[in-house]
Amino acid sequence: MSTDHFLELAQRWGAQVPSDEQLQRSIFSAPAGVIPGEVPPAYEAERYSVAGEESGEGTRRRSTTGDNGRSRNLVFPPAPEPLPYPIVDNHTHMDLLDGDVAISARDALDTGEVLGIGHIVQVGCDIPSSLYAVAAAHADHRVLAAVALHPNEAPQLAEADTLDSALATIEELAQDERVRAIGETGLDYFRTGEDGIGAQQESFRAHIRLAKKYGKALQIHDRDAHEDVVRILLEEGAPEKTVFHCYSGDAELARICNEQGWFMSFSGTVTFKNSKGIQESLRLARPELILAETDAPFLTPHPFRGRPNASYMTNYTVRFMAEHRGMDLEELCRTIAQNSQNVYGLWES
Ligand SMILES: [Zn+2]
Ligand SMILES: [Zn+2]
Repeated sequence: MSTDHFLELAQRWGAQVPSDEQLQRSIFSAPAGVIPGEVPPAYEAERYSVAGEESGEGTRRRSTTGDNGRSRNLVFPPAPEPLPYPIVDNHTHMDLLDGDVAISARDALDTGEVLGIGHIVQVGCDIPSSLYAVAAAHADHRVLAAVALHPNEAPQLAEADTLDSALATIEELAQDERVRAIGETGLDYFRTGEDGIGAQQESFRAHIRLAKKYGKALQIHDRDAHEDVVRILLEEGAPEKTVFHCYSGDAELARICNEQGWFMSFSGTVTFKNSKGIQESLRLARPELILAETDAPFLTPHPFRGRPNASYMTNYTVRFMAEHRGMDLEELCRTIAQNSQNVYGLWES
């Protein structure tokens, strides 16, 4: 897509999109050493201070209170040992800032790379964040983009009578070469009530069609809606590359994914003690269908649950996965890297 057309879309929706310079800025003149056991320098609040809620180049900032209403510990978790082979965080939101930092895309990606996260897929949830994803994928070769309207956005857009025009913009963005997935789309019966289900399903179906029309992968957000997600996928005919992002199913869904060749992307939730169904699915999953992600800034893996999350934390999740499956860590990293490439193609083209 031409820069002019891209900026015109941003203007039409009143969205602020960071420039290449903003995305590529760094607070370091030379690469800063990342020391295992210490907070990565780019995530130290003393270096990257926040002037206000609106600062930073992101589209939003994560709440400083947790689901229980209590204030969260905003210190980023310490760096782990680097991974033996670079993997992909195939679902993250760099534009959603967390903790006491207003980190740039460049500094986030550099930190991830040092710790073994060589590439990411930056995922959109609405028009502004989808525009951000496309901009980031053009500014840095380590980033590919996914664009979509989140299932929790769909009912609001339908209410405002802008769902169709928003979908038309997503379709325009979907044609960009750096956009390799339509997502995150799907169904969320946890946050959206009965009256929003119709709009969610309509939007989900439209996204499935877009993925197939342009030969892109599909990234599914499925919260408390396994049955309807599977039913609609089968009714529409699933895209060739279909990914359950932040996989939250049990053994039954894992068997369906294995049978259909649908990818299971494991996030920090797989490390939680009460995630027995997700862990069982990890053990059952065909190796060629396993992916990894952070969904940062949410879902920080154990033992840092509730703390800020960022792409480098995929490292902890993948270590847990290797141990839990009884698999050699390097072998799992190579598997995830290959699977990610099979789904999204090459990052450097
Ligand atoms: Zn999601
Ligand atoms: Zn997400």
